[in-house]
Amino acid sequence: MSDTEEKKLDFIREIIAEDLASGKHQSIITRFPPEPNGYLHIGHAKSICLNFGIAQELRSVGATCNLRFDDTNPSKEEVEYVDSIREDVKWLGFEWDALHFASDYFEFYYDCAVDLIKKGLSYVDEQTHEQIKENRGNVNVAGTASPWRERSIEENLSIFARMRAGDFADGSMVLRAKIDMAAANINLRDPVIYRIMRAHHHNTGDAWCIYPMYDFAHPLEDALEHITHSLCTLEFENHRPLYDWVIENCPVPSKPRQIEFARLNLTYTVMSKRKLLQLVKDQQVSGWDDPRLPTISGLRRRGYPAAAIRNFCQVIGITKFNGTTSIDLLEFEVRSQLNRESPRHMAVLEPLKVLLQNVAEGETLEAEIQQHPERPEMGVRAVTHGREIWIEASDFMIDPPKKFYRLGPGRHVRLRGGDIIKCLSFDQNQAGEVILVRCELLRGTAGGSAPEGVECRAAIHWVDCASGRDADVRLYDRLFLVEDPDAVEEGFASVLNPDSLNTIIAKIEPSLADVAPGYICQFERTGYFIADSKDHQAGAKPVFNRTVGLKDSWAKKSGK
Ligand code: ATP
Ligand code: MG
Repeated sequence: MSDTEEKKLDFIREIIAEDLASGKHQSIITRFPPEPNGYLHIGHAKSICLNFGIAQELRSVGATCNLRFDDTNPSKEEVEYVDSIREDVKWLGFEWDALHFASDYFEFYYDCAVDLIKKGLSYVDEQTHEQIKENRGNVNVAGTASPWRERSIEENLSIFARMRAGDFADGSMVLRAKIDMAAANINLRDPVIYRIMRAHHHNTGDAWCIYPMYDFAHPLEDALEHITHSLCTLEFENHRPLYDWVIENCPVPSKPRQIEFARLNLTYTVMSKRKLLQLVKDQQVSGWDDPRLPTISGLRRRGYPAAAIRNFCQVIGITKFNGTTSIDLLEFEVRSQLNRESPRHMAVLEPLKVLLQNVAEGETLEAEIQQHPERPEMGVRAVTHGREIWIEASDFMIDPPKKFYRLGPGRHVRLRGGDIIKCLSFDQNQAGEVILVRCELLRGTAGGSAPEGVECRAAIHWVDCASGRDADVRLYDRLFLVEDPDAVEEGFASVLNPDSLNTIIAKIEPSLADVAPGYICQFERTGYFIADSKDHQAGAKPVFNRTVGLKDSWAKKSGK
């Protein structure tokens, strides 16, 4: 708590603190209201951390946060999404105080609509969709009243009841709020609040054939749940007068306040569920949990720790200014979190064979690997090798420059956790590629400093040929080639990175073959990797996903 007290509060937390201080509210209730029409993405994480975070910080005054499925639009919603959303919120480290479905309130919205009709504040309009749109006018032109606007209350009540009973065809009429056809804010020009739609609903089945619009239902949901502060993204700023109108004119049990904040946008990423769905449907990715997607389930499968996502959301903060955050910042948080917590293992991604000529066939040498360089309490792991080992092809050069401290003819290097080796010679194939490096092992040099006259300034990772295993390793890169795929005229699908997934067969130390799916570690000197939650089989078939490289390799590649 002292942490948040010392730090400057964002403008929303400031408003909430004032409302508590002034006695306007004794306690605070927030909500996270996803529409179950897709999987959650990192943008939602920002909203989750805000809403659930506020409730956590204000536990002392009994603050709570609801998870509410905003499932009033039946045509796009599925149970699969409901389940994934619950799982993702929990995985991010939050627990809802109450779970609600906006569809549980259908009867209440209906009663409110009837109430509006009785007050002369709502009417059934039989204009076509196009007519309604046209007669709404625009910023320069006031709207034109519908010929149905002055229907009697009795007639409206009876037709609305028949709409519910299913007497009319889909789209043949709507219920509109009667506000002001000349309002400067177009959202107030008699917005549609109910439409006829025969669609099966995952919760209410076929009980309803009329469904409320978002702008009508949402404030009512908030009021019913006694939400004190209804936090949403900036695109709803222009809808706030309508939100307030609904609260003022309907028989609601509480008066929530809507406050808008800037949504999260990330470079090299598309975020809208509609676009993510398109990538999934078009099979540009393997599913909603493809590790290249910014979905929570994709990031989880990629190996991003929940704590790193929470830290990221804290660092970017809450403001009123729309902007785009660099994906580097997210990767930075992932790297720092993983650096702190993950054990080290050895894996060779581009294997080159080394023959230790003075090691006998069948002889075994021991090396000791620290599980974590800064955390001795994590202990050490014994790794053995024999006469043949794999090293990274890039750790050998035929004619190395001065500053290259790894292997080259006549040079020494240390095997991580083990002895020093000296390169004697190498073999090439007909194409001139190095296919074998012949070395001598300097016995008894493990753990100590290099003997007199031996220059050895680096340690390289390695995998024993006899006991090492093959693993499928998926090297992920950005899904898009450009910073702002949304802005591309030909559409975001035209700038997909063709090299966003590169699967290689790597050599891994035997301990890695037996880890459970979801195990995250550092492959020494390479990056952070996670045993894939779906395809990795302990013992039988190792499959690893690269979470993130050790350094910002992209910046290097693109010359930034
Ligand atoms: P999308 O545009 O990706 O489909 P949405 O806003 O339609 O998202 P909802 O399920 O309606 O998705 O969103 C649930 C909550 O998450 C809302 O309160 C919304 O404001 C918030 N939210 C969605 N996207 C972002 C984002 N990029 N940054 C911050 N909050 C977001
Ligand atoms: Mg939405």
